[in-house]
Amino acid sequence: MTTAFVVNSGSSSLKWELVDVESGEKLRGALVERVTDHTAAMAGVLEELGGEHPAVIGHRVVHGGSRFTRATLVTDEVEAAIDELSALAPLHNPANLAGIRAARAAFPGVPNVAVFDTAFHQTLAPEAYTYAIDAAVARENGIRRYGFHGTSYQYVSRAAGELLGDPAAKLIVFHLGNGASVAAVDGGRSVETSMGMTPLEGLVMGTRSGDLDPGILFHLGRSGVTLEALDGLLNRRSGLLGLAGTNDMRDVQAAAASGSADARLALDVYHHRLRHYLGAYLALLGGADAIVFTAGVGENSSATRAAVVAGMEAFGIVIDERLNDAPSKDARVVSSPSSRVAVLVVPTDEELEIARQAAALL
Ligand code: AMP
Repeated sequence: MTTAFVVNSGSSSLKWELVDVESGEKLRGALVERVTDHTAAMAGVLEELGGEHPAVIGHRVVHGGSRFTRATLVTDEVEAAIDELSALAPLHNPANLAGIRAARAAFPGVPNVAVFDTAFHQTLAPEAYTYAIDAAVARENGIRRYGFHGTSYQYVSRAAGELLGDPAAKLIVFHLGNGASVAAVDGGRSVETSMGMTPLEGLVMGTRSGDLDPGILFHLGRSGVTLEALDGLLNRRSGLLGLAGTNDMRDVQAAAASGSADARLALDVYHHRLRHYLGAYLALLGGADAIVFTAGVGENSSATRAAVVAGMEAFGIVIDERLNDAPSKDARVVSSPSSRVAVLVVPTDEELEIARQAAALL
């Protein structure tokens, strides 16, 4: 049995899982909250594991910039590069790095692998990742689109390819969780995705606005709103929360059903944005073989899936209401047999993907 220890180290939390790589079984795991000292937290985990040593440790790292195109064995030099990339992800990379350092100290001799959220999207072409701003300013500041949720897209696209019996399939994958994005995947390669230089661009999310006119920032800035307040507004008080007063999709749906106009509008805006991207990605891919839904909302909300593809028969997309409404935890087809484009639900498993990618480097 090859076991991988998977670490998702946040600024104040440490989520870990011990995974049997061959079977995919999760052997143990926990979420340690209110972490102030990652080294002490990791020592606690080591104690909990009771002398059991994993074959490899896989770390979720949010930003790999343009440098990391795949999972990478951690060396001192790789640590330094992740540290440098903190400029692009100031909230995430330092916390990820603290987890790496703590694990290297707690498990001497066990190889550590960094698995980057951005790596899967390094296949984007320049026309997809370039922002149309002063090229010198962009170059000097690392400003380009990177995309996120890459580990999830990698897992889900492979599983969707298996379900379709076609690893070369053209897919539009909606990762709809509290954070949300969509990717166009052609034969296992990402060709476009909705998140950009940061995870703020694109879809309407739980608390993030997604796309908006950057002129809004100048408008608010000139009226005295500080940079910090703008950051808080767009990252933490927008999206479903900003529109409907809650970031939990179940609560928004329940409020809309009992007549709340704000919640109804929030859902309409959420769906409108999803359909906008679906149309755009159908055009970019020259048609798709499947539309795939994953993460908390994508896996569990049949109403969201139905709203995204409603009225798209002209594009060969026909959902089967009965299949779509049938509860299941398995990867499955929810389109009608007459649908030219398959509609799939594929539960994501980022921890297993990190475990597999880390073990593959052994
Ligand atoms: P994630 O970030 O992937 O854990 O997804 C979290 C989101 O999934 C939250 O907004 C939840 O409200 C949403 N979610 C979970 N279960 C359901 C459900 N049955 N119907 C609608 N949304 C759900």
